[in-house]
Amino acid sequence: AHAAVSTDVAIIGAGPTGLFAVFECGMLRMKCVVIDTLEAIGGQCAALYPEKPIYDIPGYPAIAGADLVAKLEQQAEPFAPIYLLGRRVDSLAQMQEGGFELRTSKDEVVRAKAVIVAAGAGAFGPNRPPLNDLPAYEASGAVRYMVARREELRGKRVVIAGGGDSAVDWALSLKDIAKRVTVVHRRPKFRAAPESVAQMEAAAERGEIDLAIPYQLHALHGEGGELSHVELATLKGEKRMVPADHLLAFFGLSMELGPIANWGLGLERSHVVVNPATCATSIPGIHAIGDIATYQGKLKLILQGFSEAAMAAHAIHPQVFPGEALHFEYSTTKGVPAE
Ligand code: FAD
Repeated sequence: AHAAVSTDVAIIGAGPTGLFAVFECGMLRMKCVVIDTLEAIGGQCAALYPEKPIYDIPGYPAIAGADLVAKLEQQAEPFAPIYLLGRRVDSLAQMQEGGFELRTSKDEVVRAKAVIVAAGAGAFGPNRPPLNDLPAYEASGAVRYMVARREELRGKRVVIAGGGDSAVDWALSLKDIAKRVTVVHRRPKFRAAPESVAQMEAAAERGEIDLAIPYQLHALHGEGGELSHVELATLKGEKRMVPADHLLAFFGLSMELGPIANWGLGLERSHVVVNPATCATSIPGIHAIGDIATYQGKLKLILQGFSEAAMAAHAIHPQVFPGEALHFEYSTTKGVPAE
């Protein structure tokens, strides 16, 4: 494992409630590390509806998902949280000497005196096509769900599957550098910006992009994780082989509770059961807030997650600073650290 990061509170999930928990912990002088599977902070607000206005955030008659996330980031900033993004928390264990040890999918270790699980509906991940030998092709990078560096696809034969903005935008972007771009979609209509769809269709007419419609992914062919062909099929069973070095599959994101189910926390229908007064879970020192937390009367709303963040921070304080009295103060009295 890589070197360990030590902190007061490890927050699992950088959605709106995880971000606000940084502020609430910070006001009580507790430092936080925030870990999220996504490459960006903001949870559902950022990943699912960045441009949609939210109407029930107190004090904001309307605020777009992305704007709320930016405000929460700004509010947390004075407390200098460490964000570990693009990695999933895979394991959470109690240490003998007290506190907790978390391990991420990048094999890092985070040690914390207390943990706040703000994991929403679970970790975001790509929807995977049901194809043979997928893990081997994923491991080699032949099959991908996002493109980190466009240059890596220069001169390659790329098959792009999906009918949304990601598929169309990457087809347009890669046609200039890839050897061949084939877009596979199961129906003629794309759910993407009309202007981009028109550009893609024009490029197809000029022979710069191949459109394989109405086809679906059928099988992967190759050896040792190296892709040679992607096999396509229509619903009627007509098959077609497309030579390919890479398959980019853009079928959207889904959420799954994932490893959290294995940490010994009391669960109820894929949610973590908490005491509503403290957000304490069945394991002392681990608190759960936001969409993942459940109790009688729970509302899955951002504003309720904010209040849970405050309750969890106050309940955690004695574990981080044992024996130290916590005098309740208003933020107006105390102020936040100067930047
Ligand atoms: P999330 O936003 O779900 O964030 C959780 C994060 O935890 C995710 O980023 C996930 O990747 C990460 N995570 C999970 N497991 C792990 C792990 N093991 N390791 C690392 N990271 C992990 N609410 C309102 O109050 N008002 C609205 O108007 C409203 N409109 C909505 C509209 C839509 C279309 C949707 C989908 C939701 C809406 N909601 C609304 C609900 C609101 O978005 C959620 O209540 C809110 O996002 C919950 O915040 P959270 O921080 O608890 O979890």
